[in-house]
Amino acid sequence: MEFALAPEQEEFRKVVHEFAQTVVAPRAEAMDRAEQLDPDVLDQMAGMGLFGLPFGEEYGGMGADYLTLCLAIEELARVDSSVAITLEAAVGLGAMPIWRYGTEEQKRHWLPRLAAGEGLAAFGLTEPGGGSDAGAVRTRAVQDGDQWVIDGTKAFITNAGLPRSMIATVAAATGTRPDGRPEVTTIIVPVGTPGFTVGRSYSKVGWHASDTRELVFEGCRVPVANTLGQRGDGLANFLRTLEEGRIAIAALATGLCQGCVDESVSYAREREAFGRPISSFQAIAFKIADMELRAHTARLAYYHAAARLVAGQPFSKEAAIAKLYASEAAVTCAREAVQVHGGYGFMNEFPVARFYRDAKVLEIGEGTSEVMRILIGRSLGL
Ligand SMILES: Cc1cc2nc3c(=O)[nH]c(=O)nc-3n(C[C@H](O)[C@H](O)[C@H](O)COP(=O)(O)OP(=O)(O)OC[C@H]3O[C@@H](n4cnc5c(N)ncnc54)[C@H](O)[C@@H]3O)c2cc1C
Repeated sequence: MEFALAPEQEEFRKVVHEFAQTVVAPRAEAMDRAEQLDPDVLDQMAGMGLFGLPFGEEYGGMGADYLTLCLAIEELARVDSSVAITLEAAVGLGAMPIWRYGTEEQKRHWLPRLAAGEGLAAFGLTEPGGGSDAGAVRTRAVQDGDQWVIDGTKAFITNAGLPRSMIATVAAATGTRPDGRPEVTTIIVPVGTPGFTVGRSYSKVGWHASDTRELVFEGCRVPVANTLGQRGDGLANFLRTLEEGRIAIAALATGLCQGCVDESVSYAREREAFGRPISSFQAIAFKIADMELRAHTARLAYYHAAARLVAGQPFSKEAAIAKLYASEAAVTCAREAVQVHGGYGFMNEFPVARFYRDAKVLEIGEGTSEVMRILIGRSLGL
């Protein structure tokens, strides 16, 4: 059993750590207040190759593995979850289906610009009527000659409304299966296609600087050649993409836990009460020790799930465990980090206040905690 990262992974983690601490952290509060990412941050991430990490070098990617992508997401989330989820949604959700299921022509057409970070991809599965029941897709695509005509609405979609947003991979019902459920097909829809409207940004509890919007399709026509994978395979392909994405969300949650440790250690050493640093009170030190315990355990869980994915072994259960544990750990760590900061923890200028707002969605996105428990239960035959 080998627990060490490969030397190049460790080196890469340090590079992203340095970038996160020196470039992202100083701008995080301003981006949160402005509810907008600084384009220069995205440009620098693009320059580091982050948007092309897991894709082949022949398509402009870095040829790294999924764990390496997760390491980058963890280090970014240690200071700013909005930046981390922008990378996760663009690479792990938006572009990944093209890398996994695209034809050679589709890969050559889309991946180089996505890998370079010139364009961002969004993943359009959830609908206003429900996300957990992913197969109950109501958005419809009807074939008319060599075109799909798409009608419907997607809800809570990340990365579709940024100036550099380029495509959405959209799940649409293209027929009915023998069991009466929709036949789901994935279709690439370029941003700017007539009939594809990207709505206004939602007003959110957290992830303020991340772009989340409703997508509306009204008679939107795209070539049938934009079908991703086989007709009818859309749900299976999206679910596999989400399973991988859960490992990345666990990495993001781990980063948030570690950020809570970082902030709490430095604050507790400086803040004094009753004439001594609050770190000298065991009540405070124990809270921080518990945060470290959760960060460490969450990291082991996502490393394990990612290692299985990279080795080509089944990883669904491990991904669900990692996502469930890490997201609930992040919510707990953020609540305790605010407590360590006392009243200042409730002030937006303190990173832990942002961590507190950013943590909750981790128990919801890419499969809720309830859905994770269902999946783990199923793996036990329940
Ligand atoms: C900020 C943000 C960004 C997002 N980005 C994207 C994106 O880029 N692309 C995308 O496609 N989606 C995205 N989502 C959607 C997200 O994946 C869904 O919100 C999530 O899957 C839950 O779906 P829902 O909101 O419809 O809740 P519902 O499915 O309506 O669930 C409501 C509640 O019922 C529970 N529940 C549902 N079914 C069961 C069951 N069988 N047993 C027990 N409990 C159950 C749920 O756990 C939950 O507690 C995003 C969401 C947010 C908030």
